[in-house]
Amino acid sequence: MTRKNLIGGQWRGSDDVLEVRFPYDDSLVGAVSMASAADMEAAMAAAADGFKLTRKLPSHRRSEILSKMATLLRERFEEVVEAMILEGGKNRKTAVGETTRALETLKISAEEARRIGGEVFSIDWTAAGENRQGFTRRMPVGPVLGITPFNYPVNLACHKIGPAIAAGNPIIIKPAEHTPLSSVILAEIVLEAGFPPEAFSMLNAWGPDTEMMVTDPRVKMISFTGSGAVGWMLKSKAGQKRVTLELGGNAGVIVHNDADLADAAGQAAAGAFANAGQNCISVQRLLIQRDVFEEFTDLFVDEVQALKVGDPRDPDVDIGPMISLRDAERAEAWVSEAQAAGASLLVGGERFGTLFPPTVMTETAPDMRVNCEEVFAPVVTVSPYESWDDAVAIINDSPYGLQAGVFTSDIKRVMDAWERVEVGGLHVNSVSTFRVDHMPYGGVKASGYGREGVKYAIEDMTELRLMTLNLL
Ligand code: NAD
Repeated sequence: MTRKNLIGGQWRGSDDVLEVRFPYDDSLVGAVSMASAADMEAAMAAAADGFKLTRKLPSHRRSEILSKMATLLRERFEEVVEAMILEGGKNRKTAVGETTRALETLKISAEEARRIGGEVFSIDWTAAGENRQGFTRRMPVGPVLGITPFNYPVNLACHKIGPAIAAGNPIIIKPAEHTPLSSVILAEIVLEAGFPPEAFSMLNAWGPDTEMMVTDPRVKMISFTGSGAVGWMLKSKAGQKRVTLELGGNAGVIVHNDADLADAAGQAAAGAFANAGQNCISVQRLLIQRDVFEEFTDLFVDEVQALKVGDPRDPDVDIGPMISLRDAERAEAWVSEAQAAGASLLVGGERFGTLFPPTVMTETAPDMRVNCEEVFAPVVTVSPYESWDDAVAIINDSPYGLQAGVFTSDIKRVMDAWERVEVGGLHVNSVSTFRVDHMPYGGVKASGYGREGVKYAIEDMTELRLMTLNLL
């Protein structure tokens, strides 16, 4: 059955049909209608109308709608997991983890919906302000366009839908082409939860076609998660709109000689290979103090070799296929190119169709693509460093700055790293992959612009409005 688009409460099909294929064996697992320009036009008109309703919704209603969405998602948990496994090749453990987190994101949004307050402040700092009071409130910005990537299609959509509803904004969601099926379920959930139908649309659409909504004045904010190339290009076209960008990275993790090496090795294996390395905060560059390099590398290689690669439907599998053959071939080419330039393989490196087993490289150079670009595949490099300052310099030698990890038991190094490592989030005795859904999350440098994490997304999806009162 071809799944339709939800446009302001109406399900609409189109002649442009996209087949969805299971990345593990290329079998057909579904099909979706791709939205036309008329569909996008209708979604924006509905959103503009819907804003008249959502801006008036009291916070208890917005909170109830989000709680109901969480209840409905819990009821459809297994269906969502299954959709993610089939459309994206996500292994079962990761799909269960993501759906559990999406539930959390909705519950956090239900709580934050009640907390969008304001401030009362004294305005008489100078004589001009005497006998007056100042107040601020956060007002919803209006229709939000949420564009999501393939790698975490459910939780990242909830990171846009949840804060938009909490703030009182209509939202149009545009999922990635590889993973359109799970978003259809999310759309059914939003509709059933009682959000004004006009105020929600879910459009499966080709990326470039979506640009007409990016530039349309009825859309007041773009919340984009995806690649830097697309994100920064869209920001340049968005004019005066609010824009938040959650983009990629080549995360570094430092393991110093005073760290718990076994713990660091275990966390690093999980953090480098979760979701087949297709994670914006995946551990890509492991930097190990020279004295403990061999000991750490042995522990790490043991952990990596214990990971099970294969059919993502198998509940024991840790690493399923990459999203497409093209992406797996690209990863293979980058690894071969590094080998040709002198790097060595400690584990993996050989591709089987879309399956790319966990790959650990050493003796790499900073300018190899496996280090200096976002690899977005189950590939990690392990390199020794001499001094702490060297490690900080290497981690910062990157166009990106999303998250980083530091393993050390010295509080002075911890505070130094917090000050000097150029990232949006630093995790101590944790890998770069650490995330819980209410924390501020986002990058610096090429990794992004703005923050998600419900409360912080709500700040971006609302505008501060001042009122002063002259008491006469
Ligand atoms: P992508 O940029 O190819 O696609 C992301 C979305 O943008 C898709 O929905 C796509 O259809 C849409 N798109 C593409 N071209 C467009 C255009 N011209 N106009 C409007 N929309 C357009 O990214 P992807 O391959 O789906 O995802 C992988 C990337 O996402 C990686 O770089 C990864 O690091 C990043 N990512 C970042 C975060 C984060 O929170 N920082 C989370 C997950 C993924």
